[in-house]
Amino acid sequence: MDFQKPIDSLPRTSPRTIQRLQKLEIHTYSDLLHYYPFRYDDYSTRAKIGTVQAGETVTITGTIQTFQNSFTKRGFKLQKAIISDETGIIEAVWYNQMYLTNVLKEGMHIAIAGVIERFGRTVTIKPQEYEILSSLQDKTIHTGRLVPVYSQIYGLSSKTIREKILYVLDLYKLIDPSNTEFIPHDILGKYNLIGQHQAINWIHLPPGKKEQQQAQRRIGFNELFIRVLSSHLVKEKWKQETTTTPITITKSIQEQLDRFMKNLPFELTSAQKRTTEEILSDIQKKTPMNRFVQGDVGSGKTVVAAIAAFVTHLNGLQTLIMAPTEILAQQHFKTISTLINDPHIKIGLQTGSHKSISKKKSSLEYDIVVGTQALITEKLNFDHVGLVVIDEQHRFGVKQRAMLKDKGINPHLLTMTATPIPRTVSLTLYSELDLSVIDEMPKGRKPIKTYVTPQEKREKGNEWIKKQIREQGAQVYIICPLVEESESETLKSVRAATKEYEYLKHEVFREFNVALLHGKMKAKEKEEVMKQYKDKKYDILVSTSVVEVGVDVPNATIMFIEGAERFGIAQLHQLRGRVGRSDKQSYCFLFTSTKEAEQKHRLQFFSSTNSGLKLAEYDLKLRGPGDLYGTQQHGYTDLKLADITDYRQVHDVKDAVQTFVNKYHVKDFSILKQMIDEYQVDQISRD
Ligand code: ADP
Ligand code: MG
Repeated sequence: MDFQKPIDSLPRTSPRTIQRLQKLEIHTYSDLLHYYPFRYDDYSTRAKIGTVQAGETVTITGTIQTFQNSFTKRGFKLQKAIISDETGIIEAVWYNQMYLTNVLKEGMHIAIAGVIERFGRTVTIKPQEYEILSSLQDKTIHTGRLVPVYSQIYGLSSKTIREKILYVLDLYKLIDPSNTEFIPHDILGKYNLIGQHQAINWIHLPPGKKEQQQAQRRIGFNELFIRVLSSHLVKEKWKQETTTTPITITKSIQEQLDRFMKNLPFELTSAQKRTTEEILSDIQKKTPMNRFVQGDVGSGKTVVAAIAAFVTHLNGLQTLIMAPTEILAQQHFKTISTLINDPHIKIGLQTGSHKSISKKKSSLEYDIVVGTQALITEKLNFDHVGLVVIDEQHRFGVKQRAMLKDKGINPHLLTMTATPIPRTVSLTLYSELDLSVIDEMPKGRKPIKTYVTPQEKREKGNEWIKKQIREQGAQVYIICPLVEESESETLKSVRAATKEYEYLKHEVFREFNVALLHGKMKAKEKEEVMKQYKDKKYDILVSTSVVEVGVDVPNATIMFIEGAERFGIAQLHQLRGRVGRSDKQSYCFLFTSTKEAEQKHRLQFFSSTNSGLKLAEYDLKLRGPGDLYGTQQHGYTDLKLADITDYRQVHDVKDAVQTFVNKYHVKDFSILKQMIDEYQVDQISRD
């Protein structure tokens, strides 16, 4: 039996049903087997009609005595059947299901799962599922058991999906279980996992709760196992590659490096020192570095990148530093220029509006080039690149690395993110990367005080802002709410922010300097506004959420976020991270537009901690992995049953992969190999 068979060969299935199944990305028999239920309805309690109790959910089996349509007083159509068995009779009542007239006939055997109700002397069952049986001894599918519920779409019910799956499952049951297994038995035994064949059977037709959980655990394990094993193989492959030119730290370079560190305006935290050491040790190896630095907003990642760039330069090699937006590229350019502060080191800036390098001007004269991602996608040639730094990026994947290789370079890679990533996630989804965590803030930082505040207090808030500006010279961010739900900034949100800005500037804060920043402004304008704000030319910056990532104005200490309930936790955390960047006390006010929003646990929890990691873990638990960063682009979508918040499971999988690679070769496991290949192709096309 070939389970790659397309579903249009399913018997007794209309073209419309097939089309709708295809809409659910179900194209083959195998896809049907892997379309898992999202819930189970427990209809496993069976009862004789004479013994049912009001309020219980049961399955009864009997014969239809009569069936008729009638109308309620309000004109609803009712379908009523009287069912009997040897112990009694019961009435089953449906509402507005006219088609049943053609389905249910007197004398038919039927099983009905539903809730028992009693009106005076009449006992009725409110059917949730029913199925017609050819004999009273028939095995039931939709009733009388833990019934799998599949996510349905318009015109395609869970019941139809279930029928199609169970048809394929019957075929699947015929194959030899050993032909479906792809994890060696000793590993299954060690982690107490059931076989693959059993798991597929039980996920759709569990004999009981326990079996359902075992099936779920095995399939979840598979999903993580494939990912982690795949990452492991990618990492092994990377290890066999060599960099274009290795980096050395000679005595003279070490001395210059020491001097560089001494000239920094601050001393590195121990987390920064540790991360720097890890990076310096990596880049001296022949295999290209693949390090992922995670550090909360403000933990000081830029300087670490600058040190690596400096050492790379002393080896006569270039560094490319990429940021996700123009503003950030600008800012990095300035920060790095200040940190490096050496006229012999030429630093270029390459963005949409500012181009150091062009057809005429070669890249060769620059030692460090800061820019947006266009740096590697554009047709620029860099022949001497030793290090590539990617800031505020979740991952730099297989595809990007291949892109660099196409350009003939195989540099060391440093990826940095301020998005805190729960440990279970880094262990699985990023396990091909080496991880450094900057889990310490520079000395003297005071934790930001955060308050959830109702909109009525907004005016008081404005007065308080005035006082803070007058007395402390404070600088303030006011973030306008998202007007529409959208990934990127919409025109509507921009208009609303502009209106708010006009109002604040001309009515509320007349005596102060107020600026506006939004994503639809030209890069040059944005840059100018940010520069002036940083130079204290403005007291208040009214902005949409474009300031979200990475902007550094240490003197800003007050953050007002309006319509806070509309932002996700990760986004709020990024926004709040714009303040608290100096030794002054900073404040963050979350204004909520409704009373319910104010009481939202999410916002309360957010105000209780400044730890990005705690927030990320909370968020992960709350929203489920698919939603973690608001989009699906980070590759969680195929984790259907794995629980990525379950440290134990993740740990077992890591361990199992290690055992596997120590003892076996993927090439000897054809099903597994195919799964890994498919997963990797999928990853590349997704990046
Ligand atoms: P992020 O990790 O969010 O990118 P930045 O690199 O922008 O953080 O650093 C935030 C601010 O902290 C900058 O103003 C930077 O100069 C400063 N900074 C970085 N490291 C230290 C340190 N060890 N001591 C004091 N200030 C530091
Ligand atoms: Mg940064």
